[in-house]
Amino acid sequence: MKKGILYIVATPIGNLEDITLRALRVLKEVALIAAEDTRRTRKLLNAYGIKTPVTSLYDQNELAKSASIISRLEEGEDIAYVSDAGTPGISDPGYILITRAIEHSIKVMTVPGPVAAIAALSISGLPMDSFAFYAFLPSRLTKRRQFLESLRDETKTMIFYESPRRLASALNDIYTILGDRKMVLSRELTKLYEETIRGTVSEVLKIIEGTTVKGEITLILSGAQKKSVSDQKEAIKETLQVLREDPRLTTRDIVDRISEELSLSRKEVYQEVLKLLGS
Ligand code: SAM
Repeated sequence: MKKGILYIVATPIGNLEDITLRALRVLKEVALIAAEDTRRTRKLLNAYGIKTPVTSLYDQNELAKSASIISRLEEGEDIAYVSDAGTPGISDPGYILITRAIEHSIKVMTVPGPVAAIAALSISGLPMDSFAFYAFLPSRLTKRRQFLESLRDETKTMIFYESPRRLASALNDIYTILGDRKMVLSRELTKLYEETIRGTVSEVLKIIEGTTVKGEITLILSGAQKKSVSDQKEAIKETLQVLREDPRLTTRDIVDRISEELSLSRKEVYQEVLKLLGS
């Protein structure tokens, strides 16, 4: 029997108009929509006159519910999964269902659309050529600080989701641990009270100080300054000496390892390594 298709459908992060024509067609045509919150999804479906049956699949029941959805897919039914907002699986349920479907050789298709992280990045004015998404920062203070410490040398633009409740303390930690970098705070994107604040971490802190920031927040933070090879010549030399002792490593492996460990451009490290090797 032909198996059904699992559609992973992105839905609006605020403005109900942000839904694709294909998403609407798929939601109309599938046998069942599994949703993180059936009430919320019904509002969206009602707005577009979609009458497809809806069942719930959220964090706490994802494991058990995925099994019953997989059985229906195996029987040939097409099923869509939607989370509360944006793209399923991105700080939302969906991962278990998707991996189970893949394990059962069920075709998984994306119906792409909004993601708050990308929406905020796209208007941030910070470099978008490479970026890293870190979802929510840990809520516990020690964990959060340790995590931020681990990001000290991250040169990519960073994206975080944050709750309004923890915003001020998270920004204070970012300021203390990562320094006064450029930051963009986007709040309530695509909604009535959409707001984007651009500045440095301390400037953003000053703006939100004493106010009650409400709504859904995405933070974009600029990466650490890229180090240059000329500042790191000694470190390159020392690492090269160590790595050369391993006969299994080719020059290319050594260059890859050094550029990764020291966060340096591969091309420049290659030239420096050739110079040091005297070739
Ligand atoms: N799956 C969603 C996506 O694709 O972006 C993310 C879900 S996560 C549970 C919710 C978090 O995303 C919020 O707490 C906030 O950090 C961010 N977010 C969602 N909607 C947003 C919006 N309209 N404006 C800014 N940030 C938003």
